[in-house]
Amino acid sequence: MSAELFSLSLAEAGDLLAAGRGSSRDLVEAALGRIEATDARIGAFLRTTPERARAAAAAADGRAAKGARLSPLDGVPIALKDIFLTKGVETTCASRILEGFVPPYDATVVEQLERAGAVVVGKLNMDEFAMGSSNENSAFGPCHNPYDLARTPGGSSGGSAAAVAARQVHGTLGTDTGGSIRLPAAFCGVVGVKPTYGRVSRYGVIAFASSLDQVGPFGRTVRDAALLLQAIAGHDPRDLTSSTRPVDDYVAGLEGGARGLRVGVPREWLAGGLTAGVERAVREALATYERLGAKLVDVSLPHSRYGIAAYYLIAPAEASSNLARYDGVRFGLRADEGRGLKEMYAETRERGFGAEPKRRIMLGTYALSAGYYDAYYLRAQKVRTLVRRDFDEAFRDCDVVAGPVAPSVAFRLGEKTADPLQMYLADVFTITANLAALPGLSVPCGLERESGMPVGLQLVGRPFDEATLLRAARALEREAGPLPAPRIA
Ligand code: GLN
Repeated sequence: MSAELFSLSLAEAGDLLAAGRGSSRDLVEAALGRIEATDARIGAFLRTTPERARAAAAAADGRAAKGARLSPLDGVPIALKDIFLTKGVETTCASRILEGFVPPYDATVVEQLERAGAVVVGKLNMDEFAMGSSNENSAFGPCHNPYDLARTPGGSSGGSAAAVAARQVHGTLGTDTGGSIRLPAAFCGVVGVKPTYGRVSRYGVIAFASSLDQVGPFGRTVRDAALLLQAIAGHDPRDLTSSTRPVDDYVAGLEGGARGLRVGVPREWLAGGLTAGVERAVREALATYERLGAKLVDVSLPHSRYGIAAYYLIAPAEASSNLARYDGVRFGLRADEGRGLKEMYAETRERGFGAEPKRRIMLGTYALSAGYYDAYYLRAQKVRTLVRRDFDEAFRDCDVVAGPVAPSVAFRLGEKTADPLQMYLADVFTITANLAALPGLSVPCGLERESGMPVGLQLVGRPFDEATLLRAARALEREAGPLPAPRIA
């Protein structure tokens, strides 16, 4: 059978089905076969759902035969970070504490994708409760970068990025609280979009830090990411933070180019701290924009240097509250030696949580405790306001802000696990968009000469202006051309 079906982009796979030149069944079998052949080395999947996928494919093929496809995604295999609730399918957030938890309902985004006809083939590896930058905090083993198996795919949505880069599925969803879509997208050479806070529903998404979490797509191309975002964006009455603003058409304007676009370059983001290879690739991408008729504008984000510090108060504070619900009573693991209720709570949490969630719970509980709230949490919230004001100021002079996603290309597995602070610094350029609730994306801008690893360019936009971000990303993608596919050794 068509062995190379898995190498089609999501848009191409959809076009194939629309033209009646292939079936969803074949696409699903190709994806499952590809996962089978590669995932022992990549580790992107925590579980596949072949039966559910085959049934969905048969339904999609039935619709296609009648000329009644639901959307460009109808019949196309995709996969989900294991943070999204899937009815009847175990959902663990890569934590032992949720082992065996089978949700009674689907997250809104899962419903939306399935309503568009997309075929879910499995659940993807991630850092436990989305806490991490390398996918090494997964309780079920790390995920590997398809471009170099000794390196991290980035985190926390490592599986979501790796599965797309490794051509296992045509698109995926992840979440981004401080960079967890953009960082792995950059490390794995794919496109990852973190929408504006409130653009996509968080209902049925396991909460990490609720004021920062946002759902978004991964695609091999900008168009693929736009198609997925189109399917999931919009108001959800079940999520009170979701916006009622009408959703733009993300695909219509994609080929509009970069002429006249004002690209803000924050001077603090290129002021050292980048590896030479990343700096070169980012500067080349900026030069490409100039060549395409965009105007580079010098902007300043003076408070971004406090981003990491503010984030590591706010995110753990919210996490400590969100994770209080895992007590052995309602979800997943229960460690009950019959010694009493409090002992059961303590034993369950001791055994169920890994080191990083425990660290965050302790930091967050401390930051929120009486006498410390004003000194830490409240001050961090004030810094958050200043970070947002910096961006508001910058967007008076520019339409998008551009810079690096991360200080380096994908680092080696094990390289930063001994030092949490080093790990936290991987998000130094991404965290501010979450603090400011702004949309951001990562688009590949080439391979680093020294390592041969992908480099991503980050674009951050005005609130709800995902359409401009995607158009700008597409302009660069068209110039830079597709990255060579990884050779999975
Ligand atoms: N790496 C950051 C953290 O560990 C961000 C994670 C995320 O965006 N989910 O919190």
